[in-house]
Amino acid sequence: MKIHHGDTETRSGADWRTLARAGIESLANYEPGRPIEDVAREFGIADPGSIIKLASNENALGPSPRAVAAMQAAASQMHLYPDGGTYALREALARRLKVSSDCILPGTGSNELIELLGHVFLGAGTSIVMAECAFVVYRLVAAIFGAQVVAVPMREHTHDLAALAAAVRPDTRLVFVANPNNPTSTCVTPAAVNAFMAHIDPRVIVCFDEAYVELLPPEAQPDTLRYVREGRLVVVLRTFSKAYGLAGLRLGYAVAAPGCIDLLNRVRQPFNVSAMAQAAAVAALDDEAHVTRTRAMVAEGLATLQGEFAAMGLPYVPASANFVLVEVGQGREIFRALMRQGVIVRPMDGYGLPRHVRVTVGTRAENARFIATLKRVLGV
Ligand SMILES: *Cc1c(COP(=O)(O)O)cnc(C)c1O
Repeated sequence: MKIHHGDTETRSGADWRTLARAGIESLANYEPGRPIEDVAREFGIADPGSIIKLASNENALGPSPRAVAAMQAAASQMHLYPDGGTYALREALARRLKVSSDCILPGTGSNELIELLGHVFLGAGTSIVMAECAFVVYRLVAAIFGAQVVAVPMREHTHDLAALAAAVRPDTRLVFVANPNNPTSTCVTPAAVNAFMAHIDPRVIVCFDEAYVELLPPEAQPDTLRYVREGRLVVVLRTFSKAYGLAGLRLGYAVAAPGCIDLLNRVRQPFNVSAMAQAAAVAALDDEAHVTRTRAMVAEGLATLQGEFAAMGLPYVPASANFVLVEVGQGREIFRALMRQGVIVRPMDGYGLPRHVRVTVGTRAENARFIATLKRVLGV
């Protein structure tokens, strides 16, 4: 018998699939932004350095130089296990956020924390409530744990918080609010969040996923940590992947009451955050200037991209984070045509938006290259 890569049948005749837990086979794969090296291989692009990636909402300025220096200094200590309790990082975050350090749990990206929430709170007979076109990872995690997904229609690509609160069922454990949301780049106002918190069933957990919140002007950032301090069932997720430019390092954190953090701690791996990530994050937190530069770069880039889309007559969703959802026609075809020319964006058919692509703000040069390539591809 010939075994092919991907076959599920084995030499003994047993089948991987029959041994798997029910439901695993029907789980969907996450479609990530295409890596540069991948695209170079597929399209025979000789110089991968000529490819630009505007596909994963990464920070075009790169990591904070202070974080890079801290990682270089930490490199010689990588034979040692990290501090499994992430003491220094939690203390630094606690000071910054004005919460106690036992309200904080760092993880391998905020995506790990979404999964840990699933381990603790989700299973058959439970549900999550989320907006239809919210971050897809909530859906994927719910499916892993056999929880149902109550998907609530959005209004003009924005979370309808009243509808989310109204969709809560007796079996609902978690309500996810991505603010700003990916892939729509829309946000809800502090006043809307406060009204939502006044109306939602206080017995369900509200998870505010604030992956891009540092990119909003301060007055547009809802004070969700206030609800953690007040002892509400609120989990706030943040990440170093976006404003801090450390997506490759995989580091995010949850802020919640100690009772919640205690449960999440029980289901995580003992060393879930690498020593390199801990060192980089502490240094990055000290580099507010880098976040300020990032905010300015994003504001300028959004103005450029949205101005060009308007001039080209392409409908777009006004953006609040470092990416724009733009309607280009046959989204997946345009995505492939751009890729052939060395520009990677993200197709959106997986989100039920086959006519859109999502593009991340790049450097000035990258934005110009993207616009020029898009014009060529669209023939305008
Ligand atoms: C990018 C992103 C994250 C961050 O994920 P990490 O695992 O921290 O890299 C979380 N939520 C949303 C909505 C995002 O777009």
